[in-house]
Amino acid sequence: MPPSLITGLRCVVCGRTYGPDVLFTCPSCGVEGILDVEIDYDRAARTLTRDALAARPLDHWRYRELLPIAPESPLPPLHVGWTPIYDAPRLARATGLRRVLLKDDGRNPTASFKDRASSVGVVKAREFARDTIACASTGNAASSLAGFAAAVGLKAVIFVPERAPDPKVAQLLIFGATVVKVAGDYAQAWELCQQACARWGWYNRNCAVNPYLIEGKKTAGLEIAEQCRDAMPDWVAFSVGDGCTIAGTWKGLKEMKRLGLVDRLPRMLGVQAQGAQPIVEAFRTRRPLVPGPAHSIADSISVGHPRNWRKALAAVTESGGTFVAVPDDRILDAMRACARLGGVFGEPAAAAALAGVFAARENGTLTAGDSALVAITGNGLKDVRTAIEATGPALTIKPDLAALAEALSL
Ligand SMILES: *Cc1c(COP(=O)(O)O)cnc(C)c1O
Repeated sequence: MPPSLITGLRCVVCGRTYGPDVLFTCPSCGVEGILDVEIDYDRAARTLTRDALAARPLDHWRYRELLPIAPESPLPPLHVGWTPIYDAPRLARATGLRRVLLKDDGRNPTASFKDRASSVGVVKAREFARDTIACASTGNAASSLAGFAAAVGLKAVIFVPERAPDPKVAQLLIFGATVVKVAGDYAQAWELCQQACARWGWYNRNCAVNPYLIEGKKTAGLEIAEQCRDAMPDWVAFSVGDGCTIAGTWKGLKEMKRLGLVDRLPRMLGVQAQGAQPIVEAFRTRRPLVPGPAHSIADSISVGHPRNWRKALAAVTESGGTFVAVPDDRILDAMRACARLGGVFGEPAAAAALAGVFAARENGTLTAGDSALVAITGNGLKDVRTAIEATGPALTIKPDLAALAEALSL
């Protein structure tokens, strides 16, 4: 394996660069000063070639030159990434687009996109010689961290808001994490986690403040570029909470262009829920982010105070893309459409990205000749209550044929 190719960490606010030993945010800008990992792409290009990739395992460690981990660091055993991309012609017809693709990231080991980041997080915790890793999460980052901590034998302390759905909490408990339900919202859980990590020296997995975690999320973009190659979609849609997912994906896409492994880049469509859309507002008004309320059935993106809004805005703007907000009833519609027309069962926050594609087609941002890839970022079984809300209950009948005929109007 080649050596780690990190050249430094650059602050997104003041632009200063630091060596890789700065653990979290910019020492002079504080918590706003999120750092961005810089890599020696010329050296990466020497070994990360199409031929080399063809011989590597189909998981997200295939891009190891571009990941911020030491060459000798052992990797967790769970399979992450290289999730399938499906053509969904009936969804293309329903949305009025030339082509719709679904990338099913619910197939990751703990059933969400967050595994891309947690897998890197546990490697970094080991590199920094920590035995405990912590995070605050709307749910998926937590269940993902719990799974990866279990897989490598680290202790995990997890802070979740009181209303995190039971299936996600069940994942935490079964993986043996210490689970702290905070009587408050995600913002309060996040703050408490920050303080606890500072106090007890736990490794902080919170994606926004940890510069390395978002590098794991970048692998989605690397994969989209490699999997789509000459048929790069015009648009790539992601739902947006803190903003790390869409920003990371865009970084990965750009890296593949820089390495000459893809010619054309898509435009990014960032989708927030109408009840939690501070980044949409910041994009629309071209003003710094103002934290706002967070009320949506899409719990994973119900974030009133996003931490990585600068990276998200920069990514979408640079791609020539845009943001859109969708109401909860359209998210429920999209959950059904995704499952019934695409064969993929996504959780509400995942379906929100598809709802955004519908909305952007309706408002003319996307046109009939466009193709769009929609990231399905979490599996629908993460939140069955909302799924059943989207469908209504099953028929219940007496066990006889007459009752069946009546129920089915046959
Ligand atoms: C976390 C998450 C997102 C959004 O990611 P951010 O980095 O917070 O923007 C989208 N969908 C699902 C299912 C998630 O868990």
